[in-house]
Amino acid sequence: MLRSSPHLFGIAAMLAATGPMRAGDAFAPIREHMVREQMESRGIRNPEVLRVMRMTPRHEFVPETVRRMAYEDCALPIGYGATISQPYIVALMSELLIPEKGQRILEIGTGSGYQAAVLAQLTGRVYTIEIVPELAESARRTFARLGYANVIVRKGDGYHGWPEAAPFDRIIVTAAPPQVPQALVDQLAAGGRLVAPVGSGWGQDLIILEKKADGSLHRTVVAPVIFVPMRTGSR
Ligand code: SAH
Repeated sequence: MLRSSPHLFGIAAMLAATGPMRAGDAFAPIREHMVREQMESRGIRNPEVLRVMRMTPRHEFVPETVRRMAYEDCALPIGYGATISQPYIVALMSELLIPEKGQRILEIGTGSGYQAAVLAQLTGRVYTIEIVPELAESARRTFARLGYANVIVRKGDGYHGWPEAAPFDRIIVTAAPPQVPQALVDQLAAGGRLVAPVGSGWGQDLIILEKKADGSLHRTVVAPVIFVPMRTGSR
């Protein structure tokens, strides 16, 4: 598989020289390179997030046509107008969320399932909602194939959240709404954190919304980002 990309093969060969490649995971050296060059060098520090980024097989979440680019420093198309986010953005949003073991996390915008799989290894259970039925179905199959048993996928409109499973300790939105949907604010637990790209233009602000113990909200703007817009109603 590596031979299909001279660039990736070069990186793999270079890193393989520094240590044995783990059997069955030819992509491990490429992920190591991704974590060092794209994450650690840009300030991602949470050791658990870095550990999980080193372990999660991103190439298993992208279509065959873009597989050779799975660990490149960019978002990739996954069909139906959706993209798998740039690896750094997945790491950044995971870090900003401060996930902990045993928590319940809601994700809006399952897409490829990669972000949900990363979070599944950092927390108790991930509930993820995808509006495009084909993507929801394909992510469900990917979770089953790779053994991420603590991710539950629902096909539906994330604007409504997942009231039956609320409240959530953490909520991550990976498509951009013009404002944070009220249902998601309502379904965030006291003491919880929500991370979302918010804005109606082509680019948005990545924000953190904290719900304090008394229910008051505190909003922090982190960085400019570009996400696909969150769709309304049926697709
Ligand atoms: N987290 C994804 C990135 C997905 S891109 C990953 O790791 O690959 C954003 C996704 O949000 C797309 O799949 C898009 O179909 C979905 N989406 C857009 N509007 C939505 C809505 N209202 N409810 C749920 N999902 C939505």
